[in-house]
Amino acid sequence: MKINNISELFALIDSSKKIIVTTHTNPDGDAIGSSLALFHYFNGIGKDVSLIVPNKYPGFISWLPGNEHIIVFEDDRKRGKAAFAEAELVFCLDYNAIHRSGSLQELLKATEVPKVMIDHHPEPEVEAFEFINSTTQTSSTAELIYNFITEASKKPSVTKDIATCLFVGIMTDTGSFSFACNRPDTFQVTAKLLETGIDAEWIHRKVYDTFSEDRLRLLGFSLSEKLVVRPEYATAYISLSKKDLARFNYRVGDTEGIVNYALSIKGIVMAVLLTERKGKIRLSFRSKGAFSVNEIAKTHFNGGGHRNAAGGDSFDSFESTIAKLEELLPTYKESLLKIEDD
Ligand code: 5GP
Ligand code: MN
Repeated sequence: MKINNISELFALIDSSKKIIVTTHTNPDGDAIGSSLALFHYFNGIGKDVSLIVPNKYPGFISWLPGNEHIIVFEDDRKRGKAAFAEAELVFCLDYNAIHRSGSLQELLKATEVPKVMIDHHPEPEVEAFEFINSTTQTSSTAELIYNFITEASKKPSVTKDIATCLFVGIMTDTGSFSFACNRPDTFQVTAKLLETGIDAEWIHRKVYDTFSEDRLRLLGFSLSEKLVVRPEYATAYISLSKKDLARFNYRVGDTEGIVNYALSIKGIVMAVLLTERKGKIRLSFRSKGAFSVNEIAKTHFNGGGHRNAAGGDSFDSFESTIAKLEELLPTYKESLLKIEDD
């Protein structure tokens, strides 16, 4: 059953009691922020709503209002399955394809109830969803959820809790308003969030100024010992082995943001962070301007993302993955050097 337009979707929401909200695997600030905001909105209009995320997420985003209601599927499969068994409608936030939901994908494939995607990644998997609200222009899924809630509701509906969650989504997906934020709309929505009385400075500190000593020392080590700069390819990368991570008592989220430092070097157009994980090497890409790391992640590392921020996995050894990245650089040299970084 396709949902043909937004009025049909609103009618379906009206007639549904049990709704599920889901996010992509390894949820980030936008996934958690936008899905919790939608969770609060549905709760507020009397729905029985379950927010299910595939796996654990970092401490710096686990303080948001309503966090205690989030079901982490890999930790509580029973509750997740029970919610799916009764659901009438499923929302899929901040991801563009079923496989991006990791451990939730089997349940999503099996469910017969309509799936609604709200997302801002390129190339949505159109055929797998009954309704799609997808645009690559928008800063974040949180910005889309703001528009969705204000359109859906007949009365003022963005509470302080919802605004807190949405602010975290927009702030984290724009790197504190430093990329993907050239549209006035992003700032207009943000201004509306601030009008609810949220403390933007406090929220920023809660997300960005809560490093453990280990995390800060891992950052220092990455920059002083592990940064490789290849000016001839406008590329810089950092690789962290299992041993490196163990030395700094790695916790989920501790490598977040490291890749951006490599990109902050003048003249660098592509930055990569490689981390050795259980059974795979995780790659995190960032770029400036028209150079698409989404293409590189998709073509060579089983991944994808946005033009300027993407991720992927390699199942080769740590050393071979670094070698593969090095070998790719000459291929992309021309397009990398074409980007003016001034
Ligand atoms: P990060 O480097 O912060 O993990 O991810 C950057 C961006 O790339 C995020 O917006 C995320 O949605 C996307 N991304 C990360 N990993 C993957 C992946 O394995 N596959 C796809 N399709 N997108 C990814
Ligand atoms: Mn996002």
